[in-house]
Amino acid sequence: MGKTRPTHWPMSQFPVVDDCLWVGGMPLTQLAARIGQTPFYAYERRLLDQKMALLRGALPPAIELHYAVKANPMPAVVQHMAGLVDGLDVASLGELRIALDSGTSPSRISFAGPGKRPVELTAAIAAGITVNLESPGELETLARLGQEQGRQPQVAVRINPDFELKTSGMKMGGGPKPFGVDAEQVPALLRRIGELGLDFQGFHIFTGSQNLRAEAIVEAHDRSFELALRLAAEAPGPLRLLNIGGGFGIPYFPGDRPLDLAPIATNLERWLPVVKARVPQAQVVLELGRYLVGEAGIYVAEVVDRKVSRGHTFLITDGGLHHHLAASGNFGQVIRKNYPVVVGNRVLGAERETVSVVGPLCTPLDILADRMELAKADIGDLIVVFQSGAYGLTASPTAFLGHPPCVEILV
Ligand SMILES: *Cc1c(COP(=O)(O)O)cnc(C)c1O
Repeated sequence: MGKTRPTHWPMSQFPVVDDCLWVGGMPLTQLAARIGQTPFYAYERRLLDQKMALLRGALPPAIELHYAVKANPMPAVVQHMAGLVDGLDVASLGELRIALDSGTSPSRISFAGPGKRPVELTAAIAAGITVNLESPGELETLARLGQEQGRQPQVAVRINPDFELKTSGMKMGGGPKPFGVDAEQVPALLRRIGELGLDFQGFHIFTGSQNLRAEAIVEAHDRSFELALRLAAEAPGPLRLLNIGGGFGIPYFPGDRPLDLAPIATNLERWLPVVKARVPQAQVVLELGRYLVGEAGIYVAEVVDRKVSRGHTFLITDGGLHHHLAASGNFGQVIRKNYPVVVGNRVLGAERETVSVVGPLCTPLDILADRMELAKADIGDLIVVFQSGAYGLTASPTAFLGHPPCVEILV
């Protein structure tokens, strides 16, 4: 019985025994039989724990780590993460309910996102969580609803910074944005928070997502601390929360290197005494989604048919774009790249072939792997897409074509 790893995907933390992927301490085939249906997503507790331990070990202990629920809102995952992190960040009423169900103290839950409706703000006030304000209009609505409830809402200001996180996969700050309050408008908003008598907590600065370049994150942290400390002088009360966002990426494609945490940690060590001196009550928070859960999950679909079309072999599976939009290429991203994919029950496989793995949808975009070298697979074999723990099922058009729902399991 030899333990090996898929040589073309050395970053996967899932072990391989006798050429079968092991998930949750058992062969994938056994897990699939236990679930009783494909396709499914499986998330591994061990890997969630490992990633958190890695991060805690690398970063200064004074840094609080929050989990951004939208990355993977499966209640069991949120419940597990709640036991590992210092707080949860939600972006809708649905996520707020899941966060509260996890037993996390409302004082450790924050709510970000543009366009929060009165029903959401009302629930946030009633629960006693912190609302990250995204606009002056939202502040007025929140204050009015607070008055109606006879409660003092807790608020933080989400700042749209006057800089951008370089080479970030998705830019969410800098320039005109629907997210956050432009840095130059923040002083007026802070005055208004004081006038309205709201319970001011601090700042939230989120600059982007899926960044693998430590030096870009270090620079974003520098600019975020500078901006927050400058604006803290205008705050209606002491800064208690300084959420500098996240943006930590994970490797998906050949050539991607895992994020180097050391320079980020060194830089945070350098800033902590400065923060302590200038805003002594402020707790520095990093909020991460993808980085915490992305590598702990796989998507598994079964091969339903094999066909050769003009010399090209297709493996047709029961899963696809409707469950895993990101792996399919997000409805036609400019250059589609393959996620790491293996045949889970014959990972290395003595016989190899170049195939395209597709789903059952009637669109040429329904691709899980395009011309990839895999072990030679047959009907009934299990196709595994790695790096699928974040922005998978809930970020996919599950109603498209009306196939049965996908199962999720935490093992
Ligand atoms: C989406 C989001 C996150 C999580 O981003 P990741 O790239 O998954 O780490 C964190 N904070 C806010 C405000 C978000 O909208």
